Amino acid sequence: MELRDLPSVDELARGAGDPLAVDAARAVLDRAREEIRAGADPGDLAARLHDELAGARQPRLRRVLNATGVVVHTNLGRAPLAEEAVARVVDAASGYSNLEYDLEDGARGSRQDHLAAILRRLTGAEAALVVNNNAAAVLLALAALAEGRDVVVSRGELIEIGDGFRIPDVLARSGARLVEVGTTNRTRAVDYERAIGPETAVLLRVHQSNFRVVGFEERPRLEEVAAVARRHGLPVVDDLGSGHVSASNKLLLGQEEPTVRESLAAGADLVCFSGDKLLGGPQTGIVLGRAELIERLRRHPLQRALRIDKLSLAALEGTLLLHLEAPERIPVLRTLAQERDTVRMRAERLAAATGGEVEETVGRVGGGALPLAELPSFACAIEESLAAPLRAGEPPVVGVVRDGRLLLDCLTLTDEDADEAAAAIHAARDV
Ligand SMILES: *Cc1c(COP(=O)(O)O)cnc(C)c1O
Repeated sequence: MELRDLPSVDELARGAGDPLAVDAARAVLDRAREEIRAGADPGDLAARLHDELAGARQPRLRRVLNATGVVVHTNLGRAPLAEEAVARVVDAASGYSNLEYDLEDGARGSRQDHLAAILRRLTGAEAALVVNNNAAAVLLALAALAEGRDVVVSRGELIEIGDGFRIPDVLARSGARLVEVGTTNRTRAVDYERAIGPETAVLLRVHQSNFRVVGFEERPRLEEVAAVARRHGLPVVDDLGSGHVSASNKLLLGQEEPTVRESLAAGADLVCFSGDKLLGGPQTGIVLGRAELIERLRRHPLQRALRIDKLSLAALEGTLLLHLEAPERIPVLRTLAQERDTVRMRAERLAAATGGEVEETVGRVGGGALPLAELPSFACAIEESLAAPLRAGEPPVVGVVRDGRLLLDCLTLTDEDADEAAAAIHAARDV
């Protein structure tokens, strides 16, 4: 075929009877022209148009198989929801709901009321507020408590969360002024004490989520910071990041990651954390703590802009109920609690089904929690050339390329996922 043999966009699109056909035909013809110039034959254009249209109709946000070994993977949507949480979403989404309606009084209610009791029960906090995500929670807390005033933070805690988002920038947007104390590696309680002046509104603690300073380092315990704050009548806001609530969680991950309950007990007046990290729920930000401070957040105009939507609220309620009753049913916790042998057997099965090799690997918690924790794991190693076709398959499979091979880490695959991955590998090799 030569360039002049190609149909026009209209000619190719005409037969399809599809509103997307003109754009699709243009894309098909652009590619065909390139191929002809490169000396190749573009083949059956009508069939290509059909494929192009099918591709254009496919949802762009899709379920993928996470074979990276990173449990809370921010690029892969963080926490998968538990079945029970999904059921709550379907129920709340399928019809009207009492989102802001008090069924007892037959009058206007608050969307915040649905979760206050269960959050209190799980954490012992006096009051709670739920917003869009944890960055919003921190922003709202600082705006409500410290706008136009000073917030004291240790230099060792001025973190970048990811993708260029930095705590000092969030703080600046809240209208508060940052007062840095201490050094990168060492901050003491007395540093906070010395920085406090008439303009100070809040002492902020930020969990060093995604890194650790090791060696010559010092950081006051939260109790010490809280004691300083109390002497000056100031609140302590603790940005915990991951938000560890269940006692079972603590057992899984050892003593390193502080729980929400511990933070409150140590004297934090407000604690902020994400819903979709170790909590294993939907993207949300949760603020817990003293009722009078929570009330100030609730009344702030930004609260309306940052509030949680009803689907996330439904998913969060489903997840929190499981934390009380059956935390092992929450996928993130279930993944973390797996026996080493379970993961090894899964990798062996996948390797047997695909001619791959079993390899010992190290999984990570991810999501800015426990950056040093190494989760013993096993992967199925296959040829590196399958990395791109597997990402393009259905469902897409995302693994890790290392030393010229593609590792499919079985820590973050369920048994059913591993079967799907095996089928996807066969399909990718057949192309
Ligand atoms: C992850 C994290 C955030 C941001 O939370 P999002 O829910 O992603 O908005 C803020 N602070 C810390 C310490 C974190 O680890």
